[in-house]
Amino acid sequence: MKYEAVIGLEIHAELKTKTKMFCSCLNNPEEKIPNKNICPVCLGHPGTLPVINKEAVRKVLLVGLALHSEIPRYSKFDRKNYFYPDLPKGYQISQYDQPLCKGGELSLYLSQDKEEAQKKIKITRVHLEEDTGKLIHSPDKKYTLIDFNRAGVPLMELVTEPVITSGREARLFAQGLQLLLRTLRVSEADMEKGQMRCEVNISLRPIGEEKLGTKVEIKNLNSFRAVERAIEFEIQRQSEILERGEKVIQETRGWDSQKGITYSQRKKEEAQDYRYFPEPDLPPLHIWDEEKEGGLFDLEKLREELPELPWEQKEKMITDYNLSPVQANTLLLDNNLLNFWKKVIEILQEKKVFNNKISNLVSNYLISDVKGFVETEKIEWEKVKLSPVSFVQLMILLEKGKISSRVAKDILQEMIVKGGEAESIVRERGLEKVTAPEQLLPLIQEVIKENPKAVEDYKKGKENAIKFLVGQGMAKTKGSADPKVLEKLIQKILQESNSS
Ligand code: ADP
Ligand code: MG
Ligand code: ZN
Repeated sequence: MKYEAVIGLEIHAELKTKTKMFCSCLNNPEEKIPNKNICPVCLGHPGTLPVINKEAVRKVLLVGLALHSEIPRYSKFDRKNYFYPDLPKGYQISQYDQPLCKGGELSLYLSQDKEEAQKKIKITRVHLEEDTGKLIHSPDKKYTLIDFNRAGVPLMELVTEPVITSGREARLFAQGLQLLLRTLRVSEADMEKGQMRCEVNISLRPIGEEKLGTKVEIKNLNSFRAVERAIEFEIQRQSEILERGEKVIQETRGWDSQKGITYSQRKKEEAQDYRYFPEPDLPPLHIWDEEKEGGLFDLEKLREELPELPWEQKEKMITDYNLSPVQANTLLLDNNLLNFWKKVIEILQEKKVFNNKISNLVSNYLISDVKGFVETEKIEWEKVKLSPVSFVQLMILLEKGKISSRVAKDILQEMIVKGGEAESIVRERGLEKVTAPEQLLPLIQEVIKENPKAVEDYKKGKENAIKFLVGQGMAKTKGSADPKVLEKLIQKILQESNSS
């Protein structure tokens, strides 16, 4: 029998706000001193009262608007009760039946495959809750320390419908969401730092069957690669169980990235009853109203605050700026490079020299040469001295055939490290392509004199020998000669000397 995988994701993201979710403690993920940003409210001392952080609510609403979710007029917070040492209050303030955002969708827009990029993943809900503290286990496992700096940090949770069908799709979804959160500036969403955390729910069913199979939930996935690999492993594991005629057990499993396997953590019988009830210390939220000033937010105004969304940017890059989907992705996923590229395009348009050809040229040079050099040399972007203006000068010189690509690449590396103006560097060092025969002829005579062997070879019919002679000529001009002109001239001279 053939099975298909059904996957739903639960993704948490720590919001980037000045203060925590319900108190005025700083929300500083970089804080190194343990238990510095804590107070009686986020520690849940008796008699304290939480106050809702409006900025956190606004940020979740921005996400909902970008995803075309429904934003209900009213929302509320609920208590989720459970005991764990990283939860100082003995409960987490979360949202149960009235989340801030309902429904919505996100396409797999980062896919390089045109059809796959159109696939829309339905979203169930996006809600707001608070994060827990962090447990730090001693290496010998004899004791555990607790840091509550993270307790009470605003945490967004997004839940998808069970409509994802592979590890690859799940990864594309999570990557697309991360880029959205960063574009909206609502979260840094760094998975390695735990600012974005993915839980995967996965089941198998016979192809053609509508009813969902028994699901397994996988936790502790802290990279996109882990999300993809864990799903692939789990599809294999569950299909082997079903092939044997056995049943998949509903349980929570962990991911061991070293071994590349999932392992059982908790069976369903041990599942907790959270005894949700409306948070008695917080008023219900009146999010919006047709009546002016009837709600906390003006949704129309909020919608206008949305920046250009990453899938809109990508679409534009491909249709208006002639980039390939791969090039567009590279720019989208590197914010420094993206901002540089945007300035370059702006300058080209201001100078009225923008066209498809130069657009392609600048993106190729930015992606292969600039990004490549900066990464291999491990230069921080703040230290890159290349200015967009100078880069444009260089690209125009190249496009007009004034300099060779060899010269362009050399100057580019120099300008990244030391700065400087492309036009003046080329002028001062005489790097303009030499195409005038009267300038090249004396040099060709030299090359011919110095390389009798190659000349002989060429005359004997070895076509390749000419490439060598052209190379020698290029070296003499430090790459500023036009190789095509050089080749033609050498050919002409050798043929003339042959017939004479
Ligand atoms: P739970 O109460 O166990 O958290 P939910 O119904 O809230 O379960 O769903 C959590 C996530 O699991 C959602 O992303 C949902 O799409 C997904 N999901 C639910 N049932 C299945 C299933 N049978 N197979 C795969 N995913 C599922
Ligand atoms: Mg769950
Ligand atoms: Zn506090």
